[in-house]
Amino acid sequence: MSDDWVILVTGGTGLVGKAIEEVVKMEKRPNESWVFVGSKDADLSDLTQTEQLFAKHKPTHVIHLAAMVGGLFHNMSHNLDFFRRNMQMNDNVLRVSHDTGVQKVVSCLSTCIFPDKTSYPIDETMIHNGPPHSSNFGYSYAKRMLDVLNRGYHEQHKKMFTSVVPCNVFGPWDNFNEEHSHVIPGLIRKLHKSTNEGSATFTVFGSGKPLRQFIYSLDLARLIVIVLRQYNDVEPIILSVDEESEISIADTAKAIATAFGFKGQIVFDTTKADGQFKKTANNAKLRKLAPEFVFTPFDKAIKETVDWFVENQSIARL
Ligand code: NAP
Ligand code: GDP
Repeated sequence: MSDDWVILVTGGTGLVGKAIEEVVKMEKRPNESWVFVGSKDADLSDLTQTEQLFAKHKPTHVIHLAAMVGGLFHNMSHNLDFFRRNMQMNDNVLRVSHDTGVQKVVSCLSTCIFPDKTSYPIDETMIHNGPPHSSNFGYSYAKRMLDVLNRGYHEQHKKMFTSVVPCNVFGPWDNFNEEHSHVIPGLIRKLHKSTNEGSATFTVFGSGKPLRQFIYSLDLARLIVIVLRQYNDVEPIILSVDEESEISIADTAKAIATAFGFKGQIVFDTTKADGQFKKTANNAKLRKLAPEFVFTPFDKAIKETVDWFVENQSIARL
């Protein structure tokens, strides 16, 4: 078998895909060709388009990031769409990967798909141990089924189709649309707008008390590349910062305010949902795989993201 790799990255135009593109500009190996595709290249919820995409690029390896993705409020109002679209895309991508002899697929789960009622910290063995939080059951069950597909392809066809489980991701190229976004891009967009309008208040949804682990997209990208090259197990692997790096939404808002130099008042709109209180994940498996890995300090990553957003208004997803 040739040692030349053609790595197809689905979702290559999104937050994580763009970060991987940035990382491989610096770390590409001579035997690797990387292809980044978005929904304009093929609608992966359509089997024929998926087959045509794979016939065109003939990948040996796939990083499957493409998904319908959104923050708490978008999930709450579109659970059915999240389930159906992600199920369709995942089934097509894995089926065509199998049919065309792809050697390895790394797909993306998320720490928000774990059971709502659980003990902490959460680890990779607990994905199917109970219902997810009701706010995002559509996304969660579709993501859990990726793990079921990976196990099935391994058991029946000896395939190395595996998955990573990132915590909440942020960085340049994120989706900053207020209705659809996760908390960090949502708050960056909001504060940018209110500072431009000269407002002295910064409104944060919910109580500010929930806790989250956040990973900078460029750190996640480096870790996904390590998984592609070195991790050969069907069992999922959590890609998260340490448990000690968990931070409240209120402190997250403060870090964003500092990055903007905002001196006004932070207000909490408690009529809005808090979502799951915490999802604390254990990254011991990752620490074993990449013991030397150093995460970018949170404040530095927030500042870089804010600066990117302010400087890239014409291309940012708003
Ligand atoms: P994103 O920025 O919203 O990007 C989504 C990507 O999927 C885009 O490239 C989009 O293409 C593509 N896509 C969506 N529908 C498609 C379709 N029907 N056919 C083909 N491509 C389609 O998402 P992200 O944050 O980078 O997420 C990447 C992966 O990480 C996802 O699997 C997500 O579930 C997972 N994840 C994300 C987070 C997070 O906090 N963001 C946390 C944990 C896990 P176009 O832009 O070209 O339309
Ligand atoms: P999650 O981590 O999957 O729950 O999703 P998010 O990234 O959307 O984070 C949701 C948490 O941030 C909840 O506790 C929300 O109440 C809080 N939050 C505060 N302000 C915002 C906002 O403007 N947008 C979003 N998406 N969440 C916010």
